Amino acid sequence: MEGEVLTIEQLLGRVQSGTRVLVSACLLGQPTRYDGAHREDAQLLDRLQKLGAIITPICPEMAGGLPVPRPAAESRQGDGRDVWAGREQVFTVESGVDVTKAFVDGARAAVTTAETVQARLAILQERSPSCGVQSTHSGGGLVDGPGVAAAALLAAGISVAAVN
Ligand code: SF4
Repeated sequence: MEGEVLTIEQLLGRVQSGTRVLVSACLLGQPTRYDGAHREDAQLLDRLQKLGAIITPICPEMAGGLPVPRPAAESRQGDGRDVWAGREQVFTVESGVDVTKAFVDGARAAVTTAETVQARLAILQERSPSCGVQSTHSGGGLVDGPGVAAAALLAAGISVAAVN
């Protein structure tokens, strides 16, 4: 059964002591973004720790073999569901290099990690072409829909929420 798209509050409402939660590594302060920056959310981390969550960081793009820094990339149309289903590709924005395999490998790695640690919940970074949940980059702008890794996690039954 497909996972649910949740708000952060809905997802945190499902976290108890010992609940395993995947979290985008950049939200945990790791400098994994394409531009070498992070998006640390200390308040989120504090809330997860107070609830007793067991946090597993994931960075699908790095898990797929992409470096930091790396060129910005997006699909030309559709969203991550289309990429995960093999209907669309992902290209670097400036040079048009096809990086689909890295994005798909990274999405698969996120699912494998969820299965390995038995996580049913993930908190991801909104708008990322991998981690976006309700909004992702495609075709030169933002479109409604998940990034590639979020699409893969949802398809695997993991419920996801995004930090803006
Ligand atoms: Fe953060 Fe996800 Fe981008 Fe990695 S792929 S830097 S975890 S938003």
